[in-house]
Amino acid sequence: DRMVVAVDGPSGSGKSSVCRAAAARLGAAYLDTGAMYRAATWYCVQQNVALRDEDAVAVAVEELPLNISTDPQHQIITVGETDVTAEIRAPQISEKVSDVATNRKARQVLIGAQRRIIDQAGFIVAEGRDITTVVAPDAQVRVLLTASAEARLRRRGAQLGDGQSAEALKRQVLDRDRRDSATTNFTEAADGVAVLDSSELTFDETVDSLIGRVES
Ligand code: C5P
Repeated sequence: DRMVVAVDGPSGSGKSSVCRAAAARLGAAYLDTGAMYRAATWYCVQQNVALRDEDAVAVAVEELPLNISTDPQHQIITVGETDVTAEIRAPQISEKVSDVATNRKARQVLIGAQRRIIDQAGFIVAEGRDITTVVAPDAQVRVLLTASAEARLRRRGAQLGDGQSAEALKRQVLDRDRRDSATTNFTEAADGVAVLDSSELTFDETVDSLIGRVES
């Protein structure tokens, strides 16, 4: 049977790890749509596409040779022959990803690819910014996973990379929120979307709560 669990939320809400853990426990597939935007950005950079050139970005995303695994225990993202799983998390990519995410044509291409992956999987937890509203508004379970700005910065701070200052990280997280909320209005739950606020919850409690919504 078809069962789609759609989860949206800002960066640092713990969305990816929560959804991956929930999918693994449920025996469902898992789709990280943010990783697709990141891989598209990586490809544009690698192909020397000027990110401000909307048409060039759209063309690059149309020909993007992307492969993304839907196994929650084994996340591998490749572009052509290159494994980009780790590289797409680099700050240089996070900084540029909005240029692809705000590109309308590029979004249409990626949304189409996401819908095909979801249709093929049947039972899947898909997460991003516009899954509950645009990609899979007909999902059986629709959740907006939120956390206060303080909680998100605290969690991000724990993943600080070398040479990254806490101040710079804060600026980056809040900046990306601002840019993202202009394209995908994920900060407020749409009609029929349940809010799951993880600010005061542990990781396991958040996973349990998401799974509870699937099983009820
Ligand atoms: O979730 P993550 O932080 O990896 O997403 C990276 C970026 O991809 C976001 O900042 C946002 O700009 C974009 N994105 C999007 N729509 C989605 C998922 C991600 O615009 N469904």
